[in-house]
Order: sequence, then C-alpha cells, then structure tokens
Amino acid sequence: MTEKQWKKNDETEILIEDMGKDGEGIGHADGYTLFVKGALPGERVRVRLMKVKKRMGFARLMEVITPSPQRVTPVCPVAGPCGGCTLQHLSYEAQLEVKENTVRNCLQRIGGVDLEKVEWLPIQGMNGENESPWHYRNKAQFPVRMGKDGTAEAGFFASGSHRLIPVESCQIQHPVINEVLAVVMDFLREKGIEGYDEEHHSGLVRHIFIRRGYFTGQVMVCLVLMKETLPEEAVLLERLKKVEGFTSLYISVNSRRTNVILGEDVRLRFGKAYIEDEIGGVRYQISPKSFYQVNPVQTQKLYARALDFAGLQGHETVWDLYCGIGTISLFLAKAVPQGKVVGVEIVPEAVENARENAKLNGFENVSFRCGAAEDVAPGLLEKYGADVVVVDPPRKGCDGRLLETMVSMAPEKIVYVSCDPATLARDVKRLGEMGYELKRCQVTDMFPQGGHCETVCEMEREDKTL
Ligand code: SAH
Repeated sequence: MTEKQWKKNDETEILIEDMGKDGEGIGHADGYTLFVKGALPGERVRVRLMKVKKRMGFARLMEVITPSPQRVTPVCPVAGPCGGCTLQHLSYEAQLEVKENTVRNCLQRIGGVDLEKVEWLPIQGMNGENESPWHYRNKAQFPVRMGKDGTAEAGFFASGSHRLIPVESCQIQHPVINEVLAVVMDFLREKGIEGYDEEHHSGLVRHIFIRRGYFTGQVMVCLVLMKETLPEEAVLLERLKKVEGFTSLYISVNSRRTNVILGEDVRLRFGKAYIEDEIGGVRYQISPKSFYQVNPVQTQKLYARALDFAGLQGHETVWDLYCGIGTISLFLAKAVPQGKVVGVEIVPEAVENARENAKLNGFENVSFRCGAAEDVAPGLLEKYGADVVVVDPPRKGCDGRLLETMVSMAPEKIVYVSCDPATLARDVKRLGEMGYELKRCQVTDMFPQGGHCETVCEMEREDKTL
C-alpha cells in the first residue's frame, strides 16, 4: 500500500533498483513504483513526478546525486528527448550486460527455462577490433514536419509520441545517410517545400527514407509525399547524384492518415530499382519495401550463429520461415548442396527479391513461397518434410498454429531467431511443452545504444526415436 498520496510535481529522492524494457530506471518512493527515463540502476536521484497513476508513476530525472560508475556522457545532443537511443547514457559494456540479462530473465520467468541446462554463448557485441557501436545503421526513416519558423524539419519522434525532435545528423547512422539527409533538407528549405502537418493532414513531405548497402556503398533515397509531384525534383536529383554511391531515387505517395511510412505506391524516379549488398559472400538485392537487417556487421555474426545452430550436414531439407529477401535462406542453401531450402515470406516484393537473389548467386536448391507462414506452412511442410526449421518472426513472435505445424513435422532442430525476448520466451515455452528442448542460446547486439535485443536459440527434439 502506498503510504503517501503522490501528486504531480512532487519531488523526491530515490534509489534506482532496476531497468525497464525501454531503458528507463525503476525505483520506489514509500513503496510506490516510479519509472525514471535516463536514470541507471544503483543511482541515487532526485526526481519530479510527472504522471501519477494508481500503481505506478512516471517521474522526470532532476538530478543524479550518486552517478553509476557505468554512466557515460551521451554523444548525441538529443539523446534524452529522442525516442531512438534509450541506452546512450550507459557504457557499451554495460549495455551488453543489460541485454544479456534481459534475455536470460525473460527465458527464465516467461519461458520457464532452467538456464543451468542451457549452453549460453557470450553476447556478440560491436566491441571487437575495428568495430564501433556508432554509425552502424544502413537504414533511416526521418519524419519531416514543419518547424516553428515555418520551414521543414526532419528528425525523430520523442518516445511514445509524434512530437518531432529535430536532428541534423544521427550518431548511429552511416555518415553517408546523414549526408543525404542534409542534401534533402537543404533543398526543401531552399525551395520552401512544406513538411507534413499531421493535425491538418496537409503539407507535402512526410518522410525521408534512406538505405545504404554496407559492402557496396550503394544508396537508395525514397521520399514519402502526400502527392506525386515534388517541385524541382530534377534539382534535388542533380544534388543527390553528387553523393557517393547514389543509386536510386524513389517517390512514394502516401496520402492516408496512417503511421505506416511507405504508401502502396512506390515509384522509381531515377536509377536502379534496387540496391545491392553482400553478407558473408552472398549478394542481395534490396527494394524499398523489403525487410533487411539494419546492422550489416552484426547480421553476418547472427546468421553465422543461426547456421552453426542448424548443424547441417549437407543433405537436409531446411525451412526458413519469415525469410524476408532470403538472406538466411541463402546462407543455409550454401550449407546443404545436396538438400534444399524453402523460404516463406508474406511481402510479395521481398519474395521477388528473394528469388532474384537465389538466381544472382546461382543457387538452384532454394525456392520461395509468398504468404503468411501460418497459412502456407501446413500443406507445404507435409509435402516436403523438414529436417531443420529456422524461424525469424517479427516482434509478435510465431503464430500458435505455426508452432504446432512445425512440431507435427518433427524436425530434428528448430533454430529460433528473435527480435523480442518476451515473445521468444513465450514460444520457447510452447515448443518445450511440445517436446523441444532449448540447447544453446546467444544474444547478438544488433542495436547498440538502443534497447532491442536479438537472440538465436537452438532447440532440439527430445524424442530421438521419431
Ligand atoms: N529473416 C529475414 C527477415 C526477418 S524479419 C532477415 O533476417 O532478413 C521478419 C519477416 O517476416 C519480414 O520480412 C516480414 O515481412 C515477414 N512476415 C511478417 N509476418 C509474416 C507472416 N505471418 N508470415 C510470413 N512472413 C511474415
């Protein structure tokens, strides 16, 4: 029970005991739970209550009285207000520790896993030689709005809101992406072109979407507009052509009231329809609508681990469910020259890329199906059989029906690649109840400075008589 009735603007001193899933500090004042953005475990802090709810409150960090030894000064001037990098005030070593613990806790608490029985491989961070946990991203989607001075501004939304925090450049993006941002923004301001006004659903430019191939340096720029025409587009194009690696310009018309960034309509205005990249010697084509991992250096490590966990001999039938543009599928295909890989993906453009990618790399032992994995897999799995199933679902995890279908085919192994530890733990539990044991586990840090964690798990069929 709360002894004191807290009200908005009350100030108090608390000890931060834990960290929440969005990197916020958690502490207690007279038994009342407080969430404090920017505060770290072990710190004594003075806070002001901003939002008072029945069971918990949200407080603003006013002063760090005793700083954590792991506290560092954020590199980015908007690290606090910007919703992107929730862990920038924490040393990189400590960030890795937090992520590993998050996954361990989820597996233990939600998944009911006995961690003593799991072989735990140390987290793969970006702390090796010639590596940096900065400027690693190959993709940015900057919202564009109107600033108070009546000119267009680009940036990121403050966490949980659509309030724009303007940025000139972003410390986790590749420098060329920041250069493109500057070129586009200078152009918009110079020509007096309006950013989007969400309230009145007016203005022109909604988003600047940029992608860059890490190994190829190829750059794709896509402007998301309310209508088809960008005034003086040719001028912008000439300036973009001066950016190293500039490969394609797209315009996407999105005139709906929606949070979805790209419109249905995506039109190529200049250059190639896709950019290319390479991971582990395999070449990939990437279209604007296709999913592609944002951290190429870590992706290579992640896929190598997924392949290692798959333990392939060379003749197996392997499934890659939620395959995107076939990135993992082709890694697997290399390892089963006498077997085959079947990828399943819901976005038609990604499947098209996947097929092209297989061709481009000369793989004949891999095919792709378009559809929801939970709908397509049942018939297909029966037809082809399954020795190993790899899944890499979005944050919501796997559909229950899909897990049942997978298990009914009795693959020897299931390799689960996950971007959300909570849904991973839920699915590991379900698979455990259906006879699959968690053997090995590894977290890979795909998002330095941010809170998300990527995990690969190896699950093995317990009943070896099947
Ligand atoms: N393995 C790929 C993609 C992983 S992201 C890679 O590493 O690049 C998850 C993918 O699942 C996305 O491409 C998304 O479009 C796709 N997806 C989402 N829901 C799906 C569903 N129900 N069935 C199949 N694919 C789905």
